[in-house]
Amino acid sequence: MEVRGRFAPTPSGRMHLGNLLAALLAWLDVRSAEGELVLRIEDLDTQRTSGAFAQQLMEDLRWLGLDWDEGGLEPAYMQSCRTAYYEKAFHVLEEKGLVYPCYCTRSERMAASAPHRDDGAVVYGGKCYGLTAAERMELERSGRRPAWRVRCPDREVTLEDGNCGSYAENLARDCGDFIVRRSDGVFAYQLAVVVDDGLMGVNHVVRGRDLLCSAPRQAWLHEMLGYEPPEFFHTPLLLAPDGRRLAKRDHDLDMGALQDQYTPEELTGLLACYAGLLEHPEKVTAKELVSQFSWAKVPKNDIVVCLS
Ligand code: GLU
Repeated sequence: MEVRGRFAPTPSGRMHLGNLLAALLAWLDVRSAEGELVLRIEDLDTQRTSGAFAQQLMEDLRWLGLDWDEGGLEPAYMQSCRTAYYEKAFHVLEEKGLVYPCYCTRSERMAASAPHRDDGAVVYGGKCYGLTAAERMELERSGRRPAWRVRCPDREVTLEDGNCGSYAENLARDCGDFIVRRSDGVFAYQLAVVVDDGLMGVNHVVRGRDLLCSAPRQAWLHEMLGYEPPEFFHTPLLLAPDGRRLAKRDHDLDMGALQDQYTPEELTGLLACYAGLLEHPEKVTAKELVSQFSWAKVPKNDIVVCLS
C-alpha cells in the first residue's frame, strides 16, 4: 500500500528546531517510500492561530527544501473549515452511546481526577458519567454549558510505534474519558485529528514524541469511527540543556533566528545529525538524505541540544 503521510502543524507561531526535526522526518518517511505527503493546517483554535503564521510556516518548509503533494492554505485542509466532518463523527459516537456531557469546571475536574499521568495530564474520574437526566437538567438550568467526553473502555490498546516500539495503555485507567467537544462548541484536537487522518487516507503519522500518549486513544477512536488506524512513528524531542522541551517561545531557536544563522543546507545537516542520519553536521539537502533514510537510525530518546 502506498505510504500516505502528513505534516499537521498548528500555526500559532514560528516553527522551532524541534518542529523542523519532526517535519524533516515526516518528509523523509514519505519520500523514501515514494509516497504522498499531505500538509494539514491545524487551526482549530482560531484565537491562537492565524493564516499569516500558516503562510510563514509554508515558506519556512520550502526554504528547508521540504515540499508536499496536497494541502496547505486550502479550506479542505484547514481544520477551521472542516467542522461539518467533525460534527458527523461526533454524531456517530453519540449514536454508539459513547459521548456524554461533562459540566465540571476546571477545579472540579482536577478534584474529580485520578493522580496525574507521567506526562502531567490528569485522568478524568468520570464524575459526570453518572449524572441522571434530572441532574443534567438542573445544571443546564443553572447556566452551565457542558463539554462532551467519550467514555473510554476498560481495554488495553497496544501499538507498535515505528520508532519507539511497543506502547500500551489501558484506556479507562491510563487515559480516562477525554473531551471531544469543548463547552464553547469547538471540537477537540483528539477528535479532529482522527477524523482528518481517517478521511484523508493517512496511513503514516510521524510527529513528536510528546503525542505518543495520545496515540492509543486515537487508534481506538479510528476504530470506533470505522477507519483503519494509521501506523505511528514518534520522533525524539529536542530538549534545552536544563531538560526543558523546546517550545515556540524559545525564540532563539525559532526559524527566524535559525535563518539568520544557517543556510538551508547547514540547518538540514544539523537536523540530520540529530536524526542519526549524519555523524557530524555537514551541508546537505533534504533530497540527498532520502536514499539513506531508515527509522533504524533515528534515536528513540530525546536529544539535548546545546546551541549558543
Ligand atoms: N497540530 C499538532 C502540533 O502542531 C500536531 C498534531 C499531530 O501531529 O497529530 O503539535
